[in-house]
Amino acid sequence: MPVFELTKHGQFLQLSRQNPELFASRRHFTLSDHTQVTLYGAGMIGFEPEQDSDKSIVLSSGIHGNETAPIEICDAMVQDILTGKLQVSQRVLFLFGNLAAMDIAERFIEENMNRLFSGAHSAPPGLCNDERKRALELENVVAEFFGQRQDRRYHYDLHTAIRGSKNDKFAVYPFLHGRPWKISQLQFLAACGVTTFLLSESPTTTFSYFSSRQFGADAFTVELGKVMPFGHNDMSRFAATDKTLRRFISHGQIDLGDFDPAQMDIFKIHQVINKTRDDFKLNFADDALNFTDFPPGYVLAEENGTKYQAEYPGEAIVFPNAKVALGQRALLTVIPTEIGQGWE
Ligand SMILES: [Zn+2]
Repeated sequence: MPVFELTKHGQFLQLSRQNPELFASRRHFTLSDHTQVTLYGAGMIGFEPEQDSDKSIVLSSGIHGNETAPIEICDAMVQDILTGKLQVSQRVLFLFGNLAAMDIAERFIEENMNRLFSGAHSAPPGLCNDERKRALELENVVAEFFGQRQDRRYHYDLHTAIRGSKNDKFAVYPFLHGRPWKISQLQFLAACGVTTFLLSESPTTTFSYFSSRQFGADAFTVELGKVMPFGHNDMSRFAATDKTLRRFISHGQIDLGDFDPAQMDIFKIHQVINKTRDDFKLNFADDALNFTDFPPGYVLAEENGTKYQAEYPGEAIVFPNAKVALGQRALLTVIPTEIGQGWE
């Protein structure tokens, strides 16, 4: 593929979706003597400044193919870097996850990719579909990108939620296995417009947990709003996210301002409710917003005689989805918590 085409219009994502075979073999080139570009493969592009940098930043989007807003934000950033409108001062890797699912405007084709990391792609039945193969490929590129360098590592895995949320934007902080949670990361995400946080307290197979666990990255699953078709996003709602991420990759830091815990809503996971029977049903409206709370004793879900109840004041629902496969998570409940021990 002529590099000229890429640097003239910057349409890396478009070419990746239309002609993935163009990216079958790895390519390197330089932008205006200041930035090294690595084409890792379709939907996977890295930028490295010639000058010294101290951060390696992964921005992933489209792990779910229909979550368009983050894809559009990252696509525009890549275009601006390739065409010289934006210059990185830090190493940045952009990953567009599920290209095939984008084409059919679906979350996934065969399997939810954000349950396939940390090796889950190769658990039985093995690498049997494209999502599993892609998850492995993404892991390998992240591993190569972070490599043996001693710099600070970050991974923001950008999503939009299936349903609306009382707290429009929120982030899931992966389980840290005893490493401290970082207030500075909450501040960074607050600058992105994200002020609601969900602390995960167990290992998972999400992309952000993978980078956090394997590479010690400050990593988050960031939910930026509600799913909309390509071209139907009100991009003004993502302006703070876009501006902050651009500043971070071009300047290496942002002005965090003073920390105000009153601005933040922090929750921890209380119940993980899996669907184990076909008659599983959720006991609230289909359009109930994420972070809607229910009183103790309220039956949130039931299946074959088992009732799942709210247990704590302020206990709220997140990611309800009765349509998941048997054995998968159909609902999380969360309860409010505060910054205290275990934070730095
Ligand atoms: Zn998603």
